[in-house]
Amino acid sequence: MRTAVVVGAGMAGLAAAGALARDGWRVTLLERGERVAAPPTALVLWPNGRRALDALDPDGGWSAIAAPLPDGGVRRPDGQFLVAPHTRPGAGPAPAVVHLEDLYDALVAGLGENVEIRTGVEITKVRTHRVTRPAVGDGRVFYDADLIVAADGIDSPIRHALAPEAVVVGSGFAAWQAVVPAFRAPALAPDQAAGGETLGAGYRFVSMPLGGRAAGRGGVYWVATAAGAPRPEPPATQLALLCRWFAAWHPPVGELLAATRPEDLVPQEVRELRPLPRSYSFRCGTGGVVLLGDAAHAMPHHLGQGACLAFEDAATLRSLVATAEPGAELGAAVEQYDRARRPRTASVVRQTRRMSAVVQARGRLALRARNAALGSLRPRILGHAHGSAADWQPPE
Ligand SMILES: Cc1cc2nc3c(=O)[nH]c(=O)nc-3n(C[C@H](O)[C@H](O)[C@H](O)COP(=O)(O)OP(=O)(O)OC[C@H]3O[C@@H](n4cnc5c(N)ncnc54)[C@H](O)[C@@H]3O)c2cc1C
Repeated sequence: MRTAVVVGAGMAGLAAAGALARDGWRVTLLERGERVAAPPTALVLWPNGRRALDALDPDGGWSAIAAPLPDGGVRRPDGQFLVAPHTRPGAGPAPAVVHLEDLYDALVAGLGENVEIRTGVEITKVRTHRVTRPAVGDGRVFYDADLIVAADGIDSPIRHALAPEAVVVGSGFAAWQAVVPAFRAPALAPDQAAGGETLGAGYRFVSMPLGGRAAGRGGVYWVATAAGAPRPEPPATQLALLCRWFAAWHPPVGELLAATRPEDLVPQEVRELRPLPRSYSFRCGTGGVVLLGDAAHAMPHHLGQGACLAFEDAATLRSLVATAEPGAELGAAVEQYDRARRPRTASVVRQTRRMSAVVQARGRLALRARNAALGSLRPRILGHAHGSAADWQPPE
């Protein structure tokens, strides 16, 4: 039986492990945490991410956990629309919002019996010799397999060893996410209930309603972004700062912040890889090592594409190795993975960097240029179904 070791039980690792197992691989999933756990937030599944999930597991029941994402438009802090909401075209899957607890549950349910999960294992080493099988180790044990999938996030020690040129750098932003549960969410006027995006000078606030079937029976998910370093203060102080920074913004920004508790808050420094690894594939032994998800292409969250791209990675890998036997065939499939994924992810990274400049715009001239640029960025900002980032189709 073909064997794979997947390192990291985040969204990329869970998706890849389940897909390989369904194709008959025996998979060992290694996670440094004591359990597989979702952060208490949500995310947007753009059409490309939804197609990738369907390709990974057509029976995954994704539609049951995802609520359609209303188009709330893009506003200025005073509430004036920079881009008015519009009806999304009907073709293809619509963007959707999903609570991460629901998404993780669905991914874990899809692992099946061919995946052995080992938690509390922190990988620190990778071994790639020309003729022997690749292996990863935690300082005590080495785990070898025909295929090693590094899905261990932005700080991946595997990538660090194999592609040291890709360096983790701060993007110049801090982000805060929270889900305000339904029972505490403020009652919103109909024109506010759709949520949407607001761009200020160096600040951004995005909110969206979770479906009534989501974990905790829905509520509202929001993400605030501010140019600058992450804050060192405890969550209660950070929340007070957010309330102050966004105080004069149009409703429901203030109402949502007021309904948030410090324990809801997930603060984060926004980081990225610069440059991207020179390769996502490292052929060796009977197969090789591939980089997936943030381990390969961590980027700022402005386009909300990180997890969607991770699902694309997993769907592409799955299709390339579906029937490949260990040896020359699997080695060739490993190399093909890099050719299939690097140009695609590099192009989304370029679009994200453009968006970083938009969010960072401060000062009158920069803001005027930013507002003018919104016209051309509109498809990406609003997740228009025809936006190039969302246009990806799974391999046959
Ligand atoms: C504010 C914000 C909003 C976002 N919004 C969206 C969105 O709307 N849509 C979207 O598609 N994306 C979004 N993203 C991006 C998305 O969250 C990430 O791209 C995604 O979580 C990456 O998943 P991953 O599995 O690659 O990495 P991770 O989630 O980092 O998972 C890595 C896993 O590997 C484990 N691990 C790490 N090191 C080791 C080790 N040495 N040994 C063993 N295990 C290890 C970790 O514990 C973890 O479980 C957003 C990101 C942010 C910050």
